[in-house]
Amino acid sequence: MSRPKPLSGFPEYAPEARIIEQSVLDRLRETFELHGFASIETRAVEPLDRLAKQGEIDKEVYTVQRLHGEDGPADLGLHFDLTVPFARYVLENAHHLAFPFRRYQIQKVWRGERPQEGRYREFTQAVYARPEFIDTLATSTPIKAHVNVDFELHGCPINKYQLLEVLAAFLIGRKPDTPGHSVCIECKLRGTACVLVRGIPCLGPVTHAGCGAICPTYNRGCYGCFGPMETPNTPALTRKLAACGMGERDIQRVYSTFNVGEPPFRQEADRHGA
Ligand code: SF4
Ligand code: SF4
Repeated sequence: MSRPKPLSGFPEYAPEARIIEQSVLDRLRETFELHGFASIETRAVEPLDRLAKQGEIDKEVYTVQRLHGEDGPADLGLHFDLTVPFARYVLENAHHLAFPFRRYQIQKVWRGERPQEGRYREFTQAVYARPEFIDTLATSTPIKAHVNVDFELHGCPINKYQLLEVLAAFLIGRKPDTPGHSVCIECKLRGTACVLVRGIPCLGPVTHAGCGAICPTYNRGCYGCFGPMETPNTPALTRKLAACGMGERDIQRVYSTFNVGEPPFRQEADRHGA
């Protein structure tokens, strides 16, 4: 019998990795339940017209059809996240649910995208409380406000080479060497045309390098997910953002989107708070 070819995007872990995966999921379940949230499980399939976006079937949806079923197009699809099944579940069961409905859900979802590095077509998603149920959110603070943190890497996601540098540096007892300059330098190194000079707001001049200036490369301004660079001049950038047409509320929001716990972004957000 010929050896089966693996299907990319559908991970099957070795038993050792499964133990780690299960222990993470167990910890999540335990935490949710200790905070009073009960689990629900919804079916894997939903009617395609419910999964459709504005009448169009999303290309990410895997449709489901019986091989020897009725002729004609499929009318069911595998859920690509847990939002649609949850909304349908609440509608169907509203008469015997207690509100606010404190629930969590951990289930497989399927996305028919071409899997890029680090992305999957079948994966487990965990969804939980709506933010208004998390009463600590308004006063949440960074971890470093509570425990000693040796080094911080920012980014959504972080740069894996910076992570390796930090781990290697600590293993041999030296200071990690991560660039302190701004995303603007990365734009110059890539030859990316500046979006700010064309009037698109961009936090690149005050944001730590490390992403390779991804957003400006795709013609978007930076939102600062890599956190503040060393010695950022946020007031100067704010004047430029205002010249791009941003009002006080927008300026406050852009500095609060990522890393609002970092003093340079926090102070600038507070200066423009409503
Ligand atoms: S696009 Fe943004 S990050 Fe790039 S050079 Fe212009 S201001 Fe700097
Ligand atoms: S350009 Fe800015 S928002 Fe975009 S990935 Fe880089 S640091 Fe994050």
